[in-house]
Amino acid sequence: MSKIRYERPVIKKLETGMPNKFGTRTEYEPMTSIDGVSVNELIRTYGSPLFVISEKTVRSTIRKAKKAFETRYPKVQFAWSYKTNYLNAVCSIFHQEGSWAEVVSGFEYEKAISLGVDGKKIIFNGPDKSETDLTRAILNDSLIHIDHLDELYSITELAEKLDRRPRVAIRVNMDTGVYPIWDRFGFNYENGQAWDAINKIMHSEKMQLVGLHCHIGTFMLSPSAYGIAAAKLAELALALESKFKHTIRYIDMGGGFASRNTLKGSYLPGNDINPSFDDFAEAISTALINSNFQKDKLPLLILETGRALVDEAGFLLGSVISNKRSSTGRRNTIIDVGVNILFTSFWYDHKITPAQSFTHYSEDTCLYGPLCMNIDVIRESTNLPLLNKGEHIVIHNVGAYNMTQWMQFITLRPNVVLIDMDEKPHLIRSRESLENMNSMEEVPAHLAKFNV
Ligand SMILES: *Cc1c(COP(=O)(O)O)cnc(C)c1O
Repeated sequence: MSKIRYERPVIKKLETGMPNKFGTRTEYEPMTSIDGVSVNELIRTYGSPLFVISEKTVRSTIRKAKKAFETRYPKVQFAWSYKTNYLNAVCSIFHQEGSWAEVVSGFEYEKAISLGVDGKKIIFNGPDKSETDLTRAILNDSLIHIDHLDELYSITELAEKLDRRPRVAIRVNMDTGVYPIWDRFGFNYENGQAWDAINKIMHSEKMQLVGLHCHIGTFMLSPSAYGIAAAKLAELALALESKFKHTIRYIDMGGGFASRNTLKGSYLPGNDINPSFDDFAEAISTALINSNFQKDKLPLLILETGRALVDEAGFLLGSVISNKRSSTGRRNTIIDVGVNILFTSFWYDHKITPAQSFTHYSEDTCLYGPLCMNIDVIRESTNLPLLNKGEHIVIHNVGAYNMTQWMQFITLRPNVVLIDMDEKPHLIRSRESLENMNSMEEVPAHLAKFNV
């Protein structure tokens, strides 16, 4: 038996905090390993902080999502949203699971091509596609989702010049009952912009209008909004059918499904209340099946969901730097994880678990990062046991957006490790070095020397 640890007694000021009919929850069991690999061992080998991705969880999550849709709708295709997490290893797992690529920039487009994705299976979204980007996409026969009229005219011109008929869709925005409406991307449904764009494409005959696309928001908590959006896209497709006798091939419902995270200010944990893939699949497929599509003309349903597929598979390991008391006596714990590598801490109350056993006594704690900045707070208030200097923590549900939006600020971005299906860790992105950073800089000759 290991020795029981001594903790010095403290007098605790009772704080009622936010009342909750379920009582305050001290949920924590320590998390000592991820997919069978010891957290301490991972930190010893790869350093702290450290991002860890579970291949098992990525695969089981995409399979769960596919099953939810495929059991309700006959033709389903997922496309991996690169901006959510474009580490090559992560994209490759999604491609192995059958996902196409969904990209929103020339850089992401090139990344998909360099990974070996067939150009025909790349969906190109976003408001900023340069002439070079569009030319490459047209020559590769990719699916180009038009965002605005200037882009529509550029594609018309390029189609003529390259003597091709590009495959395009338009992005449609609309009122789905969730406000504010995301109306800055694409063409509006209610005011007729979308119908206008469709008519322009059909009359020009320079492009093949193969689909209709929407992406109504992110971290959506309302499946019914997707039902409304799907019904509106179906209406457009049917109007197109009746006016032009033209059948579109697909309806792309975009992404935006909520992951298991807990939004700041939420009354209950996201894991308990956020809608499931089944809820979103039910809303979307019901709307499409109940619309007036002939059975043999039911369009392919494309989904570009990002965060809900990868958030749970990502963990961020960190270490305690110090404990101190604030001027009011509250416990402040400083960890080596800053908001520069955990961007999502601005929106979520990330679940945080100690990585080693602890005593039963817990206390309201503020978790600070190591940046010399006041905004560097990972959790403003969370109930944690005492964490001693050098001990480790696991931050949960960090797989989405953090490894694309991370900032290099006063330190270097850390290693990323993937734990494979056989519970074997692989380094999939190495930590940055001073040489990496310096390799991009030049010092003009007149600044080369100084004397201090
Ligand atoms: C970002 C994005 C997605 C993925 O969104 P999530 O909220 O992560 O599911 C899908 N489609 C488009 C067009 C996007 O911009």
